Amino acid sequence: MELRIKGKTELVTGASAGLGYATATTLHLEGARVAICSRDESRIFNAAKRISGGGPEVMPFACDLTIRDNIEKLIADVNRLSGRIDILVANCGGPPVGRHDSVSEEDWQTGYNRTFMSAIRLIETVLPGMKEHHFGRIILITSISAKQPIDNLLLSNSYRAGLLGYAKTVSKEIASFGVTINTVMPGYTRTERLDYLADEISAKTGQTKEQIFAEWANLNPAGRLGQPEELAALVTFLASEQAAYITGTAIAVDGGRTAGI
Ligand code: NAD
Repeated sequence: MELRIKGKTELVTGASAGLGYATATTLHLEGARVAICSRDESRIFNAAKRISGGGPEVMPFACDLTIRDNIEKLIADVNRLSGRIDILVANCGGPPVGRHDSVSEEDWQTGYNRTFMSAIRLIETVLPGMKEHHFGRIILITSISAKQPIDNLLLSNSYRAGLLGYAKTVSKEIASFGVTINTVMPGYTRTERLDYLADEISAKTGQTKEQIFAEWANLNPAGRLGQPEELAALVTFLASEQAAYITGTAIAVDGGRTAGI
């Protein structure tokens, strides 16, 4: 299928590793002009080199997305270099883990800025340009926790459900401008984030990481963990011109784990 992504400018945030990196790589292969960001300068420049692989250049930006001014500068810089942003993949690190009796006020603030407001600020900053050009694709990477709360992930369960409400509401407000907004919800997928979660559990329970990964794999009917490229393929389709009539949806990429219909 011709996705007609070639030549479009896309910004993928949180892209030095994991799901963001895989998504930026797939969009680059489809011929998009790719801008990527994450906090650490050397990691994001290195990622840009690997994604480019000798092909068209990838634009790397060091940016901590928990700070509003940084987001405004990031969007201004990408616009300055490429004239416009057609596709935004809003992705950032997950919030601290914990239960209601273990997360602190500071954890709530961290999750609010990192997981919730980073996405909203990114979207609100790119939207005026997309509306003006009458074209835009916004994809949020959240989690299946948005629809099916996961034990010990109180902050993820809370903030990601909020993002679904935000995305659905805004989708109706911007549809007439040719701008779509959709959410993809990964289940357990092999990335650094999964290593971090497994380390946390391992420290508490003494289980090995392999045992923890095997337990997670058995939680879904597919009986395995996901690969980042599997989520990236869906994001790439949602970013395409062909996906113009899909908006306000939330799609799980979870091996069938989510129980609801
Ligand atoms: P990851 O930790 O492997 O990668 C996160 C990326 O975001 C990295 O590039 C990191 O540098 C960047 N990042 C983190 N904080 C940032 C900040 N403040 N500013 C800028 N960049 C920042 O995570 P991942 O597995 O790729 O997951 C991506 C998102 O999907 C996360 O929110 C995660 O919680 C969520 N998620 C992941 C899984 C999974 O199984 N991997 C499952 C459900 C949800």
